[in-house]
Amino acid sequence: MADRRARPWECHYNGWSWTERCAVTPIQNAMFRSGQLARPTVCTICGFSDPARINGSGYIFAHLERYDRPAELFPACKRCHAALHARFREPERWQALLCRSALPGSWAFALSLDHTSQWLPFTETYPGGLPVPLLVPPTSPAFDF
Ligand SMILES: [Zn+2]
Repeated sequence: MADRRARPWECHYNGWSWTERCAVTPIQNAMFRSGQLARPTVCTICGFSDPARINGSGYIFAHLERYDRPAELFPACKRCHAALHARFREPERWQALLCRSALPGSWAFALSLDHTSQWLPFTETYPGGLPVPLLVPPTSPAFDF
């Protein structure tokens, strides 16, 4: 097999290697199949949801910040998930997304932009943990007087 550069998403994340991160996917999938874990349908960064297209453009990633906790989900839509993982090499893209689209108080504002955090254990970068993703409030109609 020819050597090649690691693809951007194959980097370490919060101290876990790509191989370690991939090993969690079948565990999560088993939890989804057994009903232990519900597949996310709403992005907890921007609030996007399109359950009618959940297997296409409405797909929501069961994003993890801790790969030792496969049920601790930080659901993210395709756009937010891509920008989140690219934030170390494209911080402007991530910051623009947060400014334009993130829900007020989203856990995503607490994420580190320090690229060295990719290799550090989660608990070193986030000694107090990360905020629990808030459930997106249902859309309320405009004031109805
Ligand atoms: Zn999103």
